Amino acid sequence: MDMFTSGARPARASFWSSPAITAALPWLVLAAIAVALPLYGSGYWGVIATRACVYWVLVAGLNLLVGFAGQLAIGWVALLTLGAYITAVLSAANVLPEVHPYLALAIAAIAGALFGVIVGLPALRLRTFYFAITTLGFATIVRQIALAWASVTGGGVGVPGPVFPPPFDSQWGFYYLCLGFAAICTWMTVNIANSRFGRALTAIRDAEVAAEASGIAKPRLLILVFLFSGATAAIAGGLFASLQSYITPDAFTTELSVLFFIGVLIGGRGSIIGPLLGTILLTVLPEFAAPLVAWSTFLYAVLLLVIVLVIPGGIAELLDFKNRKPLETHRALVPRPELLKRLLAQDDDPGTLTLEQVELHFGGVRAIDGLDLTILPGQVHGLIGPNGSGKTTTLNVISGYYNPQRGRAVLKDAVLTQLSHHRRAQLRIARTFQTPRIVGEASVIENVMIGGTIDGTGSFFESLFALPRHWQDEKKLHETAMLALSAVGLESLAGVRADRLQHSELRFVEIARALMLRPAFVLLDEPAAGLSVEEIRRLGALVVEMAKNGTGVLLVEHHADLIFDICDHVTVLNLGKKLAAGTPAEIRSHREVVSAYLGG
Ligand code: ADP
Ligand code: MG
Repeated sequence: MDMFTSGARPARASFWSSPAITAALPWLVLAAIAVALPLYGSGYWGVIATRACVYWVLVAGLNLLVGFAGQLAIGWVALLTLGAYITAVLSAANVLPEVHPYLALAIAAIAGALFGVIVGLPALRLRTFYFAITTLGFATIVRQIALAWASVTGGGVGVPGPVFPPPFDSQWGFYYLCLGFAAICTWMTVNIANSRFGRALTAIRDAEVAAEASGIAKPRLLILVFLFSGATAAIAGGLFASLQSYITPDAFTTELSVLFFIGVLIGGRGSIIGPLLGTILLTVLPEFAAPLVAWSTFLYAVLLLVIVLVIPGGIAELLDFKNRKPLETHRALVPRPELLKRLLAQDDDPGTLTLEQVELHFGGVRAIDGLDLTILPGQVHGLIGPNGSGKTTTLNVISGYYNPQRGRAVLKDAVLTQLSHHRRAQLRIARTFQTPRIVGEASVIENVMIGGTIDGTGSFFESLFALPRHWQDEKKLHETAMLALSAVGLESLAGVRADRLQHSELRFVEIARALMLRPAFVLLDEPAAGLSVEEIRRLGALVVEMAKNGTGVLLVEHHADLIFDICDHVTVLNLGKKLAAGTPAEIRSHREVVSAYLGG
C-alpha cells in the first residue's frame, strides 16, 4: 500500500467489516433472492418481480438524471410509452414487415436515446421546475399520439406486445430476461457512478459553479445521460409491452411516471442501491394494499413525505454504515507542503496572467472599475480591500463566471475573456470559493477527484462498460486525489461524507480539489476565513510552497498578517479601483491604506 493511503484505513480490519465486503453484501443478498425466486415464489410473485425488473431498467437510467444530475424529469414515462409502442408495433407487423423482437427492441433503444435528448434539451436552458413540466407535457403528447394514430398503434384498442423467442417465452424465462437487463443496467450505472462522469453529475447538481471552474462541460455531459436514460427507458418499454401482452394508452399513466420519480427520491440521491430498493418497494407495496390501489399516488406521496422527514438521505442513508462511526472530535489539520512538488511540477512556462482595463458593473454598481492586474507565475499576489471592493468579482472574471463589459483577461497568448469555463480549466486556472462549494453527500476524496475530471482519457461509453481506460483513469485520479489530500492534511478523512466536515476542513478540501488541475494559476478566495491562528500559519506555508513549485497564486484575504507574511506583491482594491500596489513593505507604509484598513 502506498504511504499516502495507509492513514486512511484501519491497519487491521476484519474480513466482514472490510469496506469492499460491506459494500458488496447488499448486492449479493439481492442477487441471491432474485436468481432463486422461481424456487420459492409463486407465478403471481414472478409477475411482480418481472415488473420490478422492468421498472428498474427505466429507473436505473432515470436515476443518473434525477438522483445524480438533479434534473427533475418527472414525465419519463414518455420514453417508456415510446419504447413500448415501437417494439410492439414493429414486432406485430400490422403496418410494416415483421421485425424480430430483439431487433425491434434495439430500434426502440435508439429511438429512445434520440427522444431522450429531445425531451432533455430544455434542461440545458430552463430552470428545474419548468423542465419538470415540459417532461410531463411530453408524456401527455406521446400518449395522445398513441391514442390518435389508430392505424399504427391501434388507438384505444391497442396493440399486442412482443413475445420473445425461447427460452424467454415462458413466464420464468421472461423473468430471467428482464432480470438480465436489470442486472446489466445496474452494472452500467454503478460503473458511471464510480467514474469521473458520475462525480461530475453530482457536481453539476450540488456545486455547479465549482463544476464549471473544474472544466466540466454541463451540456455535453447531460446530453450523454439523456441518451443513456432515454435508451434504457425505451428498452424498459419494450419489455413492459411484452409483460402486459397487450398495450393501450391507458397503461402509461402519470402515476406510473410519479412512481419512477419517487422511487429515485426515496432511494436517496447519488446512490444506486437506494433507488433500486425504492423501486422494488413501490412495485411490491400495492400488492399488500390491493384495496388501496386507487390511492396509490396518494400513498406514494405519503411515503415520500415520511422518508423525507425521517430519513432525508433516503434508503441509501440507512445502508450507509460507514458514515455512522463518529469522527474524532479534535482533528488537527496538518498539511504536508513538501508533497506539492509531486503534484505541481511544471515543465512548460505558464506565462503571466493579466487583466487589462477590466470593467464590470451590475446595474449602477461598479464592481470593477478599470482594473489592471498582473499575476506572475511562482509568486503569491495578495488582493485586499474592504468588503464589496470587487475582490471576488475579480476572481469571477478570471475564472469565467462573469464576462466583463470592458477590458480583457489574458494568459500567455490566450484571451481568457473569450473562452468558456471549460477552456479556462484546460489552461490550468483553478480556484476556491469564499463559501466552499462542495458535494455534501459525496465523500471527501470524491469531491477532490471532481477537480481532476478534465484529465480523464476514457469516454462515457468506456466508463459505462468499465473498459480498460476507465480503470486507468480511476486509478490515476484516485492516486492524485490521495496525494492532494495528503498535501493539505486531510488524507485520514478521505472516505468520510463531505458534509460531516468542519468548515475549516472544507476550505482545505477545496484547495485539494484545485490542486487536481495541476494549476498554473490558482485563485484563492479568503481561504483563511474561519481558521485558527495555527491553521492560518500552516495554510500560509502551503501557499508559499505552491508558489515555489511554479504556480501563480492570487490570494484574496482579510488577514493582514497572512498577506504581509507570504505575498510577493499586494494590490489594494477600493470600490473596484486599484488604491495601491506594491511589495508588502510598501503597502504597509502606504498612508491611505494604513489609515483606511490597517488602523495605524
Ligand atoms: P468583495 O469580494 O471584495 O467583498 P465582491 O466582488 O463580492 O466584493 O462585490 C463587489 C461589488 O459588486 C459589491 O458591491 C457587490 O454588492 C456587487 N456585486 C457582486 N456580485 C453581484 C451580483 N451578482 N449582482 C449585483 N451586484 C453584485
Ligand atoms: Mg468576496
